[in-house]
Amino acid sequence: MADTSSLRVAVVGGGPGGYAAAFLAADLGMKVTLIDPETNPGGVCLYRGCIPSKALLHVAKLIEESHQARNWGIEFSDPKIDVARLRSWKEGVIKKLTGGLGQLSKQRSVQYVQGRAAFENSNTLRVTKSKGGDEALAFDRIVIATGSRPAVIPSLKLDSARMMDSTSALDLQDIPKTLLVVGGGYIGLELGSVYAALGSRVTVVEMTDGLLPGADRDLVLPLHKRLEKMFEGILLNTTVASLKEEKNGIRATFEGQNVKEREKVFDKVLVSVGRKPNSEIAGLDKTRVKLGPKGFIQVNQQLQTDDPAIFAIGDVVGEPMLAHKATHEGRTAVEVIAGHKYRFEPNAIPAVVFTDPEVAWAGLTENQAKAQGREIKVAKFPWAASGRALTLDRQDGMTKLLIDPATERVLGVGIVGPGAGELIAEGTLAIEMAALAGDLELTIHPHPTLSETVMNAAEVFYGTSTDIYRPKK
Ligand SMILES: Cc1cc2nc3c(=O)[nH]c(=O)nc-3n(C[C@H](O)[C@H](O)[C@H](O)COP(=O)(O)OP(=O)(O)OC[C@H]3O[C@@H](n4cnc5c(N)ncnc54)[C@H](O)[C@@H]3O)c2cc1C
Repeated sequence: MADTSSLRVAVVGGGPGGYAAAFLAADLGMKVTLIDPETNPGGVCLYRGCIPSKALLHVAKLIEESHQARNWGIEFSDPKIDVARLRSWKEGVIKKLTGGLGQLSKQRSVQYVQGRAAFENSNTLRVTKSKGGDEALAFDRIVIATGSRPAVIPSLKLDSARMMDSTSALDLQDIPKTLLVVGGGYIGLELGSVYAALGSRVTVVEMTDGLLPGADRDLVLPLHKRLEKMFEGILLNTTVASLKEEKNGIRATFEGQNVKEREKVFDKVLVSVGRKPNSEIAGLDKTRVKLGPKGFIQVNQQLQTDDPAIFAIGDVVGEPMLAHKATHEGRTAVEVIAGHKYRFEPNAIPAVVFTDPEVAWAGLTENQAKAQGREIKVAKFPWAASGRALTLDRQDGMTKLLIDPATERVLGVGIVGPGAGELIAEGTLAIEMAALAGDLELTIHPHPTLSETVMNAAEVFYGTSTDIYRPKK
């Protein structure tokens, strides 16, 4: 192993990409400085993204399931929601996790600087400290992990306490009677589900012809059907033309061919129309770092920018903007800095939408296969034939495999149903290990579990499923 103990490495941004990079670099013996404005590492994911949203979605699922229990002869009275207590429980989860990261940082002797970094040149950062003062620090290598922020549509910008982005929605100030969610992507649907479960009447507006644009339609359908019951409205092919504050709320006007009601007043509006990379870092123009057309920092497969001293990882370098992608990129960048032969070339980056049902996919999707003109075989196993799904009273799920007809290799996996986010890990492993459909078919899965549906889908591919009946042609 190369001697890296003399390398001074700075990591700018303490999200799941940045802190993973900093901690691994310290473990490999480098002298590491991690810079972030928060008290502890964690970034968007821990403070205002993955973790708070999943804590609240857990509560939403519990409430929804308590309603469903009526079907099983168990009646709960309507929940009494103590918003302040719920908020403080969620804050407690964040504090525990970020505090833990602060400890791990200290244990590794990572120098954690609370502040914001700007570039003076390729090897020098000027750090403005949150507690006052600034300092120029020199490094051999710098890893940019500054993440992303909510995108803003200028025409929908309104300076009003009734307007929310994902960050303020997670603050959970109150539960509005009516909520308009602009954008039917995963963040809008997850947060819309939380507010709907807590009692808001939620309307989602999506400008394309379906929720979760980009995801395979057969995976989205069961979610759409359930959300139709949970939400007051789902308006597709619709855009919000204007938002205007009035005494009793925000008046939204809608445009689109199918729009029936042109205007409506909502207590609050959540705009969730995507995210933008935080690549406008002061002084970046004093380095050789280049940005791509959408503002992402350009990197190669080793996460090196066009400046030999600077690496970049996570949301700031491109899609998919997901925490686990950021972490793996962070680790890769550090291995490369350490002189190891490494590059970021995953066969599958799983994506999970933590709604109810959850939607998850990994590897090739049917949409991508179609766009590439790639021949695939699709094998689907409906959860209506899964014993475990029936014991959960959830027959709305489905597991599908995308298989290369020539080699029988599993190229993609898609799952919709409760727990799909956990199940997709098996699909991701299958793709990374170059598993054949036969490997999944022959792997004994525990019964009764939802994981069996992955094996069952492989049986469908070979026409050997004994859980469903398909007459031979
Ligand atoms: C509501 C919501 C839910 C989400 N749910 C999920 C999920 O379930 N699963 C998932 O995988 N992803 C989820 N994401 C996305 C996930 O949060 C991001 O992909 C992930 O946080 C990106 O990590 P990162 O390390 O690139 O940067 P970030 O987590 O964005 O962290 C970047 C850090 O850098 C800091 N920074 C910026 N500029 C500077 C500077 N000049 N100096 C110092 N510090 C700076 C920022 O303040 C921030 O703390 C969610 C996002 C949101 C908003």
